Amino acid sequence: MNTARPTPALAGAADPAVDWARVRADFPLLTRQVHGKPLVYLDSANTGQKPAVVIDTVDDFYRRHNANVSRAVHALGSEATEAYEAARGKLARHLNVRADEMVLTSGTTFAINLVAYAWALPRLKPGDAILLTRMEHHANIVPWQLIAERAGAVIRVAEITPDGALDLDALHAAMTPEVKLLGVTHVSNVLGTVNPVRGICREARRRGIVTVVDGSQAVPHMAVDIAAIGCDFYAFTGHKMCGPTGTGGLWGRREHLQAMPPFLGGGEMIRQVRFEGTVFNDPPHRFEAGTPNIAGHIGLGAAVDYLDALGMDRVAEREADLLAHLTQAMQQVEGLRIFGTAPHKASVVSFLVEGAHAHDLATLLDLEGVAVRSGHHCAHPLMQYFGVPATCRASVAFYNTHDEIEAFVAALRKVRRLLG
Ligand code: PMP
Repeated sequence: MNTARPTPALAGAADPAVDWARVRADFPLLTRQVHGKPLVYLDSANTGQKPAVVIDTVDDFYRRHNANVSRAVHALGSEATEAYEAARGKLARHLNVRADEMVLTSGTTFAINLVAYAWALPRLKPGDAILLTRMEHHANIVPWQLIAERAGAVIRVAEITPDGALDLDALHAAMTPEVKLLGVTHVSNVLGTVNPVRGICREARRRGIVTVVDGSQAVPHMAVDIAAIGCDFYAFTGHKMCGPTGTGGLWGRREHLQAMPPFLGGGEMIRQVRFEGTVFNDPPHRFEAGTPNIAGHIGLGAAVDYLDALGMDRVAEREADLLAHLTQAMQQVEGLRIFGTAPHKASVVSFLVEGAHAHDLATLLDLEGVAVRSGHHCAHPLMQYFGVPATCRASVAFYNTHDEIEAFVAALRKVRRLLG
């Protein structure tokens, strides 16, 4: 497998400081122009850009190793299987869990649906409740609604405070005996709020409530120790953490995974098939029916190597610095409102400018070379809470620069004048 350039630019063994300009140079796409202007990519919460080592790893797999996993005994088949399983191991180590508890999925959406259909649906009874928070992404709402309807269970919602933090007293008070499952996001994709998931999961566990943490916006930005969080399930997506699209995973406690029936049936997830009945494989393979995204997950393994070499604590520190600059600079723009001002935030600033629609803002910013997301961010209930149909969202990653933040704010002022 290609291991070229897995190590980002550390300034030197004696000095663990990172040369962020060299790190940025690892991301080929960031050199391009759009509409004749240098690209300022502030949409990493939507999907992250990929370092060359990830692109090269995927390319190398197809050029030199391509074969299906776990089926062929030939050399290529063994190489593909080894690399795919190695990626599982890297992810598990990165998140401090066992590899045999790590199900590889197409992302968070699949991971949460897997818990919904294979854990919750067989267990929930009429009158049971699923507790969610106001700030969940639709991927952590809609699967539960589908399941609740079929099981006769109800959805209960824990509210937030006006600054965009979870109301922890209300959340704990909502953990009544009917609640069998809690779905909570680690980091909000709209507000940037980092939720204290460790304490929340401890409270839930004391009450016998199974916890599903949506880690989509946490794993790209900080060191995540799933074992320390103490949840029952942790879902995440690979494309926001420098990996290819269509990758991600679900970590689940062994006892849950072993007790869960398959979600999808097919090849790979069986030990023996007879028309009279089928013996299923053990987890995690029981939940990986069919040919998986082999190249993608091997690429995700390379992304994990890349992030590990960089160090997630350094990533978090760099992004905190960028976020502080971004927030402070945006606060100087007249008529700009920020949604989500909780004390503990990661990498995301949602905003609106008085009198301007989010999509108009994003379209005009695009003409200045600035990519931000506009819309409801798959969080309708949160938009409803704030009484707006949509917001703009600027999100940073460690490869962004302070100069880009200045360029963005200058573009914002220009756009504001145009719209005003
Ligand atoms: N949850 C959160 C908090 C997210 O930000 C996203 C991606 N926008 C998802 C879930 C869904 O992830 P995916 O589309 O990769 O399955």
